[in-house]
Amino acid sequence: MIPNLLIKINKSLKEAYENFIDNLVLGNYFCPHCKAKGKMNYHAEYDRKVITLVGNQIVYEKLSIVRLKCYSCNRTHALLPNFLIPYQTHGYTIVMECLFDYINGKSLFYIYDKYGVSPQLLYSWIKKFKLHSERVCILLKSKIKPIKQIIKLIYVFNDLWNLLTDYFNENKCCFMQIIRSSG
Ligand SMILES: [Zn+2]
Repeated sequence: MIPNLLIKINKSLKEAYENFIDNLVLGNYFCPHCKAKGKMNYHAEYDRKVITLVGNQIVYEKLSIVRLKCYSCNRTHALLPNFLIPYQTHGYTIVMECLFDYINGKSLFYIYDKYGVSPQLLYSWIKKFKLHSERVCILLKSKIKPIKQIIKLIYVFNDLWNLLTDYFNENKCCFMQIIRSSG
């Protein structure tokens, strides 16, 4: 996985992602596994359903995510745009918006009505957020403990995409990514 690729969106996620792929210079990429440079080539594509916010608009789209293969170690790596959380349908902007509404006392019905997000899904995001909250606070050099305050801190942070990149570089997993136990 090559996550957090900075992709500029005008309106369509698909168009933005395809534009990014068209302009990709593979020779500049290092394999995240064996670190070989310029050894990656197009391998395959797979479809991913994405729901996120672009501006204030909820956008539902299907993206064809490109997978690269490293010809040095034979591993494949998906190229994931920054708005995606690995293995999840909803992107960062809609997740943060829902969490922010929730800590500001908006009802579960309001959140369901506005974003189509069920209480179960919202609670699963809060759980994932909590699992990553300590690491994100270390990154931000923040001593804040209550989860509501940490959600607010991330929500108002003025450079979310840079923060996500730093988070990945520091922790080798994406913010709010499901943490699988090793072994
Ligand atoms: Zn490799």
